[in-house]
Amino acid sequence: MYIVQIASECAPVIKAGGLGDVVYGLSRELEERGHCVELILPMYDCMRYDHIWGLHDAYLDLGVPWYGGEIKCDVFCGWVHGRLCFFIQSKSQDQFFNRGHVYGSHDDPMRFAFFSKAAMEFLLKSNKRPDIIHCHDWQTGLVPVMLYEMYQYYGMERQRVCYTIHNFRHQGSCGKEILAATGLNRPEYYFDYARLQDNFNPFALNLMKGGIVYANYVNTVSPHHAWEARFTDVGYGLGHTLAIHQDKFSGILNGVDYNFWNPATDKLIPANYDIDNLKDKAKNKQALRQRLLLQESDRPLIAYIGRLDEQKGVHLVHHSIYYALEHNAQYVLLGSGTSPEVNNKFLHEKYFLNDNPDVHLEIGFDEELAHLIYAGADMIVVPSNFEPCGLTQLISLKYGTVPIVRGVGGLLSTVFDRDYDPDHAPEKRNGYVFYQMDNAALESAMKRAIGLYYDYPKEFEQLVQQGMEYDYSWQAAGSQYLNVYEYIRYK
Ligand code: ADP
Repeated sequence: MYIVQIASECAPVIKAGGLGDVVYGLSRELEERGHCVELILPMYDCMRYDHIWGLHDAYLDLGVPWYGGEIKCDVFCGWVHGRLCFFIQSKSQDQFFNRGHVYGSHDDPMRFAFFSKAAMEFLLKSNKRPDIIHCHDWQTGLVPVMLYEMYQYYGMERQRVCYTIHNFRHQGSCGKEILAATGLNRPEYYFDYARLQDNFNPFALNLMKGGIVYANYVNTVSPHHAWEARFTDVGYGLGHTLAIHQDKFSGILNGVDYNFWNPATDKLIPANYDIDNLKDKAKNKQALRQRLLLQESDRPLIAYIGRLDEQKGVHLVHHSIYYALEHNAQYVLLGSGTSPEVNNKFLHEKYFLNDNPDVHLEIGFDEELAHLIYAGADMIVVPSNFEPCGLTQLISLKYGTVPIVRGVGGLLSTVFDRDYDPDHAPEKRNGYVFYQMDNAALESAMKRAIGLYYDYPKEFEQLVQQGMEYDYSWQAAGSQYLNVYEYIRYK
């Protein structure tokens, strides 16, 4: 099959979160199964160009219709760790992708509407006719809309779209100018509840809703989150739309790319180890302590890695630091705030705790340090408010770092409480789960984990091994996506 992925991120060259990991990992899995996969991405100025091999021009002066005129783009091509990627660089005065960041501009909907339009135009003009176009999140929600409403009439009538939603919170809400810019026009047609009109703001268009309505298949990234999105408030207003389109909606659990995330082969950690050689994990703990100037001790090391955002339960992340310090544990945090307020709060905390030899807060994004923390920590906390899938707990399991998670979304589907889980035998359990959003719930889980570490070290090691035995690779998800592709291809 010939599959083209259109996305705003692809790890490690552009990564703001799990979306980048998923786009890369799924592409590799599909290619290893013999399918032809290509990726189309924006050419940001802030990409990790050191992860692109053989970058060269693929299509110069691509004219992209825009507001009745056109914007010229150059398309470059290169390999990101073996994946063939096309990068779209616009020559517009708007400098759509030269902003020094991936997201966060006031005109983000316009930037990514342009990217979606340019990607479709590139497929059309370079005569690429994939069997499947796979697009992701609100940034590319317009792709199926434009395919169905425009490009099928230009010769792309056989292409089918799979649309994956990684986070319902950000939906790409925008005004009618998007229609004029992309050439869709006809506001009276698109401002319709059955099409792109936002379910709660009648004056706004919703790009994610467009993706759901027009794609041939829609999924989110874990079965439990698919249920939550339909029946609870984490669908952020799209539950009714999902209900209408329930026949083409499901949840497919993300995998982890074990070529990148594997303690036995990871080149970014000082000591490789595996399930039969766990004592070398301790060397990483020592290296982590040395790097972050933590004192040597026999205390467990607890970590948090992730965006510092309301979604991630920041108030519980904050509480977990102090609870760990008060209960004879060390703590390492690696995260970047998605708002200046949260960033400042944690920076303030960092200065406050500066002289404490048992804690280090690293505010920012650091892929290399993340590997060392996964390898060096004993436990990781993931107290998310909601979590469509979550990759940090999956990576932690592979690195023998016990996850302490809130039982929501993908966390509930992948972590099973050591002390109580009616669906899993004791030898199949792999972490700690709590359910409420308050401090007491988090404390009860952390207390049990720290208690086991101190009082029953053999049992703790057993729990570590049970976690490492889980296979959350892309294999299962790869098969499920291929089933979806086959299903929509002949529909
Ligand atoms: P998200 O909601 O951000 O997509 P996920 O758990 O799905 O959360 O994926 C997060 C990914 O980003 C993981 O690979 C994690 O290691 C990585 N990550 C998050 N924050 C940071 C950071 N500050 N530095 C390095 N890696 C990070």
